[in-house]
Order: sequence, then C-alpha cells, then structure tokens
Amino acid sequence: MRKTFTIALLLFFGFGGFAQAKFDAAPAKYMETITGADLKKHLEIVASDEMEGRETGSAGQKKAGKYLISQYQANGISHPKPARDFYQLVPAAFLNAKYNENLPDSENIWAFIEGSEKPDEILVISAHYDHVGMKNGQVYNGADDDGSGTVALLEMAQAFAQAKKDGRGPKRSILFLHVTGEEHGLHGSRYYSENPLFPLKNTIADINIDMIGRRDTIHSGTNNYIYVIGSGRLSTDLYNAVEFGNAKSGNLMLDYKYDDRNDPQRFYFRSDHYNFAKHGIPSVFFFSGVHEDYHRPGDDVEKIEFDALEKRTRMIFAVAWALANADSRPVVDKDGK
Ligand SMILES: [Zn+2]
Repeated sequence: MRKTFTIALLLFFGFGGFAQAKFDAAPAKYMETITGADLKKHLEIVASDEMEGRETGSAGQKKAGKYLISQYQANGISHPKPARDFYQLVPAAFLNAKYNENLPDSENIWAFIEGSEKPDEILVISAHYDHVGMKNGQVYNGADDDGSGTVALLEMAQAFAQAKKDGRGPKRSILFLHVTGEEHGLHGSRYYSENPLFPLKNTIADINIDMIGRRDTIHSGTNNYIYVIGSGRLSTDLYNAVEFGNAKSGNLMLDYKYDDRNDPQRFYFRSDHYNFAKHGIPSVFFFSGVHEDYHRPGDDVEKIEFDALEKRTRMIFAVAWALANADSRPVVDKDGK
C-alpha cells in the first residue's frame, strides 16, 4: 500500500504533475547567433531618417517593410504558405473605423518557419514596425519603440532558420508578425486577430516585444532586467516557459511589477499581445520600460544599449524555443483577468 502510494506521488510530483508542459532548452549555438552587432546593423537601417519615422501607411514605413522582407529572404525564410506574399493588407477603412484619422492602407508583414512535428500549431512572435512619423520637420526614429522589437524578430528568425538547416527546426510552426498601426490603437494586431491566417484555436501563444533596448529610471543601475507582463494571466505553462527560458539563457532579473492588476500604467492593455489575449490565447509582453525619449524625436539608435538588447533577445528566443518544442502546448488554466 505504502509503496504504491510513493510511486503515485512520484508520478504526480516527480515528473512535474499533469498538464504541466515540459520544456526544451535552446542550444547556446543558436542563441549565440543573436548578437548586438547584428541587431545594431539592422536597427541602423530600420530606425534611420530614410524611414521617416515609419508612420502607418507612409512611404517610409513601406521602405522599412521591404528591408524586413529582404532579410527574411536572405535567410531563406518564406512567407506563410497560405499567403500569396509577405504582406497582410490592412485596409484604410479598418484603420480609420475607430478614430477616423485618415490613414492610408497599410500592411502587416509576416514570415514563417514551418514546424517539423506539429505544423498546424502556431506560435506567434509579434512586434509593431510602425512609429509616429515626422512632426515639424523632425523625424521620430523610434529606435526603441519599436525598432528594438522589430530587429529582435529578424535575429530570432535567423537563429530558428539556422537550427532548421541543422535538422533541429521547431516542432511547432512560428509566425513572425510585424504589425502596423500600433501607435494609432493596436490596429494591425486587431486586424490579424479578426482575420487570422491560421485558426486562433491553433495559435498556442503570442510572444510580443515592444521596447526592449533601453533602461528606465527604476533600473538606472543596471540593464540586466526585463519586464514580463501577462505571462501567467491565462496559462501557468506560459508563465513557467518564461521562467525556464530565462534560467536557460541570460538569467535576467524578471520584473513583474507591471503585471500587477492594479498598476495604473495598464501596460497589459497597451501593446499588441492584448489582441491575442482577449481571444483567450496565452500571451506575454516583454518590455524594458519608458524613458525620457519615449515618443520624442530623441528615440535614436545611439541611445540603444546593444548589450541589453542582445541578452533580452536571446532570452526571448529561449522562451520561444521552449514553447515551440515543448511536449505539449500551453494549457489555458486561468481566467485571463
Ligand atoms: Zn510601441
């Protein structure tokens, strides 16, 4: 009797209990392909004056989009199979429906790495590539907001593509989603969530990155941190995946301050992951906080801390790797509130 009991306990606790996903650590070899130098090379283009602040639907934003696509193509990464190309048109009528800002047509941009074992299960990694454009002749380059998240996607995609070439591609598919219209009200991600390319029920999680290249005054003494928002609201597995990925990579200080339901900043509702979370998809938002150049013309490449951007991107890559290769998809066991 007792012996059986012990074995039962071991099965229950010793193996992680039921409904707890088991994760796979990202190999250092792939994590290390993500470098501050590469991130800088991309960001110097994405956040250059030539892109004119990437206002939604502008020529500058379209130019930045073309650069992103050229980088996917250079790494042999295609658009998702069911789509004709790298673009999801987000029509002006949709962009203006809420606030009537007279925005022109714009596009989300997507790239895709197909899973080897569960290709129909999709992990979305999102970042907005629009910013606020130009005002009074000044370019708002948006190097941190959200040039940092934009180039992080490029580097993570390259690392996954390299792993795939070595026969270690992700078990699940990954959709890299550069959304538009964020600054005007999270429009691109809302459009995707209402017009998804893959059924939302097959979307296992959204990892969203918006501003991860600097530090805020709360952490003036170190850049070895990241804010984690929303990871545990819908899924204990997603919360665990973030902790696991961090432990297997840079061991950053994970700051859950803004995950507090009563935080007045309400960041949980202020970036693109929310359009996935509201549909019940486990979602996490990575962020390094606001600073004096937030939505000002001084949000420039020179002020990005590339050592921080590198370690945060590697850490998020490790989280994505854990989710894409886990034995089971994250279970929704929380109410999302
Ligand atoms: Zn942003």
